[in-house]
Amino acid sequence: MSYVDEIMNMVVEKNPAQPEFHQAVKEVLESLRVVIEANEEAYKKDALLERLVNPERQIMFRVPWVDDKGQVQVNTGYRVQFNSAIGPYKGGLRLHPSVNIGIIKFLGFEQIFKNSLTGLPIGGGKGGSDFDPKGKSDREVMAFCQSFMTELYKYIGADTDVPAGDIGTGAREIGYMFGQYKRIKGLYEGVLTGKGLSYGGSLARTEATGYGLLYLTEEMLKSNGKDIAGKTVAISGSGNVAIYACQKAQQLGAKVVTVSDSTGWIYDSEGIDVALLKEVKEVKRARLTEYAAARKSAQYHDKKAEGTNQWSVKVDVALPCATQNELNIDDAKALVANGVIAVCEGANMPTTLEATQYLQANNVLFVPGKASNAGGVATSALEMSQNSERLSWTFEEVDAKLQGIMVNIFHNLDDAAKKYGMDGNYVAGANIAGFLKVAEAMTAQGIV
Ligand code: NDP
Repeated sequence: MSYVDEIMNMVVEKNPAQPEFHQAVKEVLESLRVVIEANEEAYKKDALLERLVNPERQIMFRVPWVDDKGQVQVNTGYRVQFNSAIGPYKGGLRLHPSVNIGIIKFLGFEQIFKNSLTGLPIGGGKGGSDFDPKGKSDREVMAFCQSFMTELYKYIGADTDVPAGDIGTGAREIGYMFGQYKRIKGLYEGVLTGKGLSYGGSLARTEATGYGLLYLTEEMLKSNGKDIAGKTVAISGSGNVAIYACQKAQQLGAKVVTVSDSTGWIYDSEGIDVALLKEVKEVKRARLTEYAAARKSAQYHDKKAEGTNQWSVKVDVALPCATQNELNIDDAKALVANGVIAVCEGANMPTTLEATQYLQANNVLFVPGKASNAGGVATSALEMSQNSERLSWTFEEVDAKLQGIMVNIFHNLDDAAKKYGMDGNYVAGANIAGFLKVAEAMTAQGIV
């Protein structure tokens, strides 16, 4: 049995009931096969893959807090410090009822390669909790965040582990967590990113993942002789990534016709009105039905009642920006039948393995999230640099650096795919380019 297969079997055996983690490892190792096999003896002797798939540290803890009725609630908190070969652990905190250790491990594993691809000195980590901020009062969210940080603060720091936002963790949650960290540690340091501008946040961080997704998509289309301007685009989600992907796509001359949330989706024949979308989602924290009610050209579709989603719409480019495994094989078939030319992931692992393979087999240009959504973590690393310098850069400076990083990421993965004889396979290119740097650093640092 080959070394890659041995490791894939071991991961499934040693981590039962963690299907998302198995899926992420399988996707990465499959595309690294050619690189691993070329160095199999050396990697095997150093147990490089065993070390890569085992987190350096996994922390799980109880998070008790009191709700508005005086009832004590208990959630589980997680931080997985996966790999620090190229820098301090860096990765978001997800607050969503679906969170469990397997989800955090899949996200942390992906983060290693994503962070490496940015070219910046940041290792891979991820964390979160099964707490659901939806429907909670500000006081309840604060109570949860303070309790969560009262345990997490022991394991993080500006030079060890710097968490950021993710699903359910926005500016409000980061603010409460930062306040509690500072209070316990008595230390004003850049321990979290995604902070508010008045206390160490970076301009353009809010926009970074969505904008970065479009910068990379634009560059990838350009290198394939195509232009983003004039294209029709389907976006899923209506959170942080989706909103700013929508905004930048329209600035680049594309027309975005769909957005979604967990209950329904919008088709807007005139193109999504970003100001209205922001009002509904960022200010009112309301459902998309309110968007449809306020705009004549928009139709609202209930996902459950109709059994439909936004991937049934005829578009040139699809940008899944909501959550994992939200674009399956049937969706991929619908997109291909409608003549889609590119799918670039804004969310983490939104496309199932089967759907990815189908899209690639049908010559759809496909970029995995670890490359196309890396703008968020890249700008988080720029926030860390500004905090260390005790300086704030202008929006234009950060945005220009972000654009440079995304263009660079595309060319790194494109070159890696070509070098290993897999021209146009951006999944393989991203995994190979991300892996080689981490493997070199791990090897140089000895058996640790
Ligand atoms: P938000 O919480 O701001 O938004 C998430 C969006 O996805 C919401 O519209 C939400 O709908 C929808 N959604 C969440 N869970 C589900 C589900 N199970 N089924 C259907 N829809 C769902 O998160 P972000 O925009 O920050 O993150 C989106 C994705 O991008 C995630 O995969 C995240 O890991 C990834 N990402 C985010 C980065 C960032 O900088 N924010 C950086 C890199 C990756 P509803 O409101 O109804 O729940």
